[in-house]
Amino acid sequence: VSCDPDLRPASIPHPVLDAVYRHALDSDPEECCGLLTGWPAAGPARRFAEAHPCRNEMDLRHQEDPVAWPRPAREAFYMNELDYLAVEREAERQGRVVTGVYHSHVDAGAYFSALDQEYARSPFFPFPDADHLVVAIGERRVLEVALFRWLAAEGRFRGRRVVPATP
Ligand SMILES: [Zn+2]
Repeated sequence: VSCDPDLRPASIPHPVLDAVYRHALDSDPEECCGLLTGWPAAGPARRFAEAHPCRNEMDLRHQEDPVAWPRPAREAFYMNELDYLAVEREAERQGRVVTGVYHSHVDAGAYFSALDQEYARSPFFPFPDADHLVVAIGERRVLEVALFRWLAAEGRFRGRRVVPATP
């Protein structure tokens, strides 16, 4: 699924976007992944207050069991469990929750792939209520970014463009 031009763009504070972009470019040629934390019932600036990089351990899994994990970290992500649990714990201590999961696409668009959707909806996915921020990079720069949300009433993900907001 790609961005829906009919939906109003989502605004995310520019320091949060900058942190995600930096992580995506630093991780090139692998996909990066991480979490966004904030207050769930607040406006966008507080809903997505901070970005927290996590390690993508897909290469490790792929090397150990290429049948179960057919894709390398260049094409997929698997968030390190210790990393995301630490972020979740620290967020809870501050009265926040995990409001978003982000990852990058290398030399591909900012769409939410069939595999991304499957992972996000699987019973193993730790943050079923989170939004999904996807940043596409190529030739060492950010190409596009989009935010995807599961709409239970429609039974599907929908994506919107992202605009940077002043925090
Ligand atoms: Zn993806």
